[in-house]
Amino acid sequence: MSGGSAGPLLDVDGLTTNYGSISALRAATLQVRPGEVVGLVGPNGAGKTTLVSTLAGLLSPAAGAVRFDGADVTGFSPDTLLRRGLALVPEHRRLFPDLTVNENLKIGGITVPARDRAALIDEMVELFPVLGAKHDVSAGYLSGGEAQQLAIARALMSRPRLLMMDEPSLGLAPVLVDVVFDLIVRLREQGRTLLVVEQNATRMLGVADRAYVLRSGEIVAEGTGQALLADESLFDMFVGKHS
Ligand code: ATP
Repeated sequence: MSGGSAGPLLDVDGLTTNYGSISALRAATLQVRPGEVVGLVGPNGAGKTTLVSTLAGLLSPAAGAVRFDGADVTGFSPDTLLRRGLALVPEHRRLFPDLTVNENLKIGGITVPARDRAALIDEMVELFPVLGAKHDVSAGYLSGGEAQQLAIARALMSRPRLLMMDEPSLGLAPVLVDVVFDLIVRLREQGRTLLVVEQNATRMLGVADRAYVLRSGEIVAEGTGQALLADESLFDMFVGKHS
């Protein structure tokens, strides 16, 4: 790999993504350094999903550049980006409902050598014990919280250097929202690098090292979680969002 350890792992400069004539993301510039947990917060329709989908190669940017580990990866395919270590847990999880938990995990490890997959599955079961208990159950029969854990574990099976998650707590009961945020803290303690989209801004800013605020397709603020929580101009984002 070409990157130096001192520089950012992800370096996004002026990224713009359009849906036809609609510009959903305009000139987004952000960085994620190794070992950081970075939040992406903002209201509905702000462009958060568009940003991480573009970074994962699911959408093509109209302008701007993405550097990953020092290399220009702008416009690369999802498969190539995954092989380079950039994984996304998509909104709504997108599991294979007819396949078992174990089979979903194996598919997540498709980019790693076959001989390493069993040890990776063991690692995932240690991190998410429920997946061990339900290894033979079809993913379509899992509860929302279990399915979210499987979606995250499936992405971790690729041994990502940057794990992106899109709304991991969306639609979960409050007790499971706690599980998701506890997990983010545990993954950080393991030294993993995370970029997490969350509408639950208050909770996200509580666990993030830094965060970016998106509004109407533009990054309007950035800073430490504490600084953003104290920023009165962002107060409307936090009202009613406590869980
Ligand atoms: P949410 O939390 O509601 O998913 P978001 O911040 O993730 O919000 P995006 O889903 O990225 O926002 O949407 C940004 C803008 O792009 C919105 O105005 C949305 O209506 C629009 N948009 C999203 N997907 C498409 C699409 N496939 N075609 C046209 N417009 C789209």
